[in-house]
Amino acid sequence: MKFLTHKGKRYRIEEIDYGFAFVVSNGKTKWLQINKHLAEFPKLYKRIIKHEKEHLDSKNPHIDFWTDFKAGFMYDKDLLKFMQRYPRSFLAYLPVFKENGVWGCNWYLILIYGISLLLFGIVAFLLLRHFIF
Ligand SMILES: [Zn+2]
Repeated sequence: MKFLTHKGKRYRIEEIDYGFAFVVSNGKTKWLQINKHLAEFPKLYKRIIKHEKEHLDSKNPHIDFWTDFKAGFMYDKDLLKFMQRYPRSFLAYLPVFKENGVWGCNWYLILIYGISLLLFGIVAFLLLRHFIF
């Protein structure tokens, strides 16, 4: 079994074959889920571990939101390569997930998708108004 040590605490690493990495919690303990194929991309793996450590540090969901917001705008060649080689990593972008048999949703993604849809709607509306009416 693999472990990650961060600030004197040991977190179990559970290997999965989808997404990238997640910090999961059952209310009592926190552990990490990491796509096992990430080991083939050592630089990307390091970066993702660093990002997950930021999640481990944060106690409130607003900071989590900001952590993901910053990460979302970081361009990474290895990340694109990884996603091409392992398309199941795209499951990280699904707004719903199943954890310990219970469905949950990722509010950050729902918000991002909602804003995108709204902007798309506004642009579509303006274009239609311009060309049709
Ligand atoms: Zn994140």
